[in-house]
Amino acid sequence: MSTATLAAPTADALAREHPEFRGWLDLLAAVREEAGSATWADAARDVAATAPLLAGTTLTIDPGLAAAWLRRLFDVAAASAPAVAGAADRLDPLAALEVAIALDTPRIDTLADAAGLPREPLRAVLPLAAYPWLERCGAQVAAGGLDHAQAWCPICGAWAALAEARGLEGARRLRCGRCGGDWRAEWLRCAFCGTDEHARLRSLVSETTGQARRAEGCAACGAWMKTITTLGAASTGELRLLDLATVDLDVAALGRGWKRPAGLGARLDVRVIARAGAAHPRRRWWPR
Ligand SMILES: [Zn+2]
Ligand SMILES: [Zn+2]
Repeated sequence: MSTATLAAPTADALAREHPEFRGWLDLLAAVREEAGSATWADAARDVAATAPLLAGTTLTIDPGLAAAWLRRLFDVAAASAPAVAGAADRLDPLAALEVAIALDTPRIDTLADAAGLPREPLRAVLPLAAYPWLERCGAQVAAGGLDHAQAWCPICGAWAALAEARGLEGARRLRCGRCGGDWRAEWLRCAFCGTDEHARLRSLVSETTGQARRAEGCAACGAWMKTITTLGAASTGELRLLDLATVDLDVAALGRGWKRPAGLGARLDVRVIARAGAAHPRRRWWPR
């Protein structure tokens, strides 16, 4: 077989070989031409603007493995927050994961109350339970190719943790601390409310690192975004460390009365269900 036959055929070649294809080829040509028009590019952007990619998906997992992860997470947390010691044993692992993915504070509180656990430390720790799955999902999505004119992650719906001023060209990239989402945003525009009135954006600069680490607040909506200068795209792990390392900026922003919206920026109805055949993880004593 020659390489020519392995290559995708051109429309012209197909039309020569199969005159009967002509009508269909004309339709395909029309579709291709139309897909290049701005009409559909704008409409596609609107789709991304109303739902994160993971919205409506299902996470299927072995409840035993989910329970083991929660146990590990809360064991680590208990070292600094003793109130959550043993929390994993009082939570349904699938329900807990679902609520963590949804970042739904009222539902976290409901779980806490039902399990007799204190609300505040559960609000702080439980959201982390969703990170491994979200991070793997984020890695599967074409990194860096996302264009999305919102402050919430186009993959998982979380508000951007921070913005990177990346590389020599200083591209502005919003980053998600949950899944690593990485999307382009415009400079001099508030990602939360979209205002581009420069006079309404205020910069708060770190005393020690200057312009390389700053927070930009918006007088129109009151929200702020941290901006960190980076050489290249930070890994998801690095991103979470950068977010933590710049908590002084968050404290200063809160001190000015700035605020960031809670929860997710867009609904994420992810269902968490048991993997088939793994519904009874504790019955391992059965003979094999
Ligand atoms: Zn995300
Ligand atoms: Zn704003």
